[in-house]
Amino acid sequence: MAKRDYYEVLGVQKGASKDEIKKAYRKLSKKYHPDINQEEGADAKFKEIAEAYEVLSDEDKKAQYDRFGHEGMNQQFGGGGGGFGGAGGFGGFEDVFSSFFGGGRRQDPNAPQKGDDLQYTMTINFDEAIFGAVKTIKIKKEVTCDTCDGNGAKPGTSKSTCGMCSGSGRVAVEQNTPFGRIQTERTCPTCGGTGQEIKDPCNKCKGAGTVTKDVEVEVTIPEGVDNGQQVRLHGKGEPGINGGPAGDLYIVFRVKPDSRFTRDGDDIHYELPISFAQAALGDEIKVPTINAEVVLTIPAGTQSGRRFRLKEKGVKNVHGYGYGDQFVTVKVVTPTKLSEKEVELFRDLAEQSGEDINEQQESFMDRTRRFFKGD
Ligand SMILES: [Zn+2]
Ligand SMILES: [Zn+2]
Repeated sequence: MAKRDYYEVLGVQKGASKDEIKKAYRKLSKKYHPDINQEEGADAKFKEIAEAYEVLSDEDKKAQYDRFGHEGMNQQFGGGGGGFGGAGGFGGFEDVFSSFFGGGRRQDPNAPQKGDDLQYTMTINFDEAIFGAVKTIKIKKEVTCDTCDGNGAKPGTSKSTCGMCSGSGRVAVEQNTPFGRIQTERTCPTCGGTGQEIKDPCNKCKGAGTVTKDVEVEVTIPEGVDNGQQVRLHGKGEPGINGGPAGDLYIVFRVKPDSRFTRDGDDIHYELPISFAQAALGDEIKVPTINAEVVLTIPAGTQSGRRFRLKEKGVKNVHGYGYGDQFVTVKVVTPTKLSEKEVELFRDLAEQSGEDINEQQESFMDRTRRFFKGD
């Protein structure tokens, strides 16, 4: 499948700023995160977005991509196919098309190929995301069989030349086409084009060369990582084929919510309940932040819903762009139970304000609420 342009994937212009790229990535990764979006294809889309962002957010990679496109990204793997070796002479349709589209990369089944990438969703705590951590996860993946060293043949034996194609990896087939009978070459179905057959397969992997195993992987959770962001562990994916490099392991982080704080990017939001008296008279209140407590001064006459900003008390940016802020929204709590004395005081207060609560049909609590909301 042809790869889409990274700028197109993120829906930004080629000259987009770092910030625009980041914003676009945030928006899209939220939309397509597999934990949020259950639609078919969302997973693939998410991966595509993450890959585009990984390149475009990295200055070096971006420069390379701008100059060479996708080929620039695959430099270490490109051209490993050894061209068209083995096809020889007159090729069929298959060869013509693959030479156009495949660039000859998959032509030779004996050529080294990069192993598949893997993706793992790792659930982490709120604090682990903010402060970073090192954790070991267990994943099931294909690893090179240690009995045969990935060869697939029983130790002490070796692969033999394929009897079907005599080692060429290709077989001639006749095809009926609208232009008449055409003889073409196809990949040998017995050996899959490798030209070799395993007569005596390895007992452990049954000739596959790989076995499924639970593998422990150490993951460094970056400080400040957010829900939906990911890291790439180079070479921790599936093993390569024919001595090719291993694929990569993508760890996508899912951050558990916190009971006190909510997070929006690098900013932290906190709701602070205060009493009528504190709102009316002002107070100094200890407020928790993700680090230590700070003292917040509530001025007299503070309305419910007012927001205070604690500068740079938020999360350290994962890319090192400073700290976010903490926003404290005060919520004036209306008492649900009043002592007789308190009722008396509130009545006095109401009278002071020139209100005669007895004439109203509203309940006392409604009146009180209205009074303190200021309408
Ligand atoms: Zn084996
Ligand atoms: Zn064969």
